[in-house]
Amino acid sequence: MSATPKKPAPCPICGRPAEAAFTPFCSARCADIDLGRWLSDRYVIPSEDEDDTDPPREPAE
Ligand SMILES: [Zn+2]
Repeated sequence: MSATPKKPAPCPICGRPAEAAFTPFCSARCADIDLGRWLSDRYVIPSEDEDDTDPPREPAE
């Protein structure tokens, strides 16, 4: 059941037609950008409770 012709999805990064070699991106560069975003998204922890930060512990001397 394929009524619609196969249309190349636009690159999610820049919106240009995707290249088969880099699907779903248009180039290795955009794929790299997406990967970087994904990674930073994983590692960056949203600090929603900023006013609940632990007070810096002073070194007991
Ligand atoms: Zn692109």
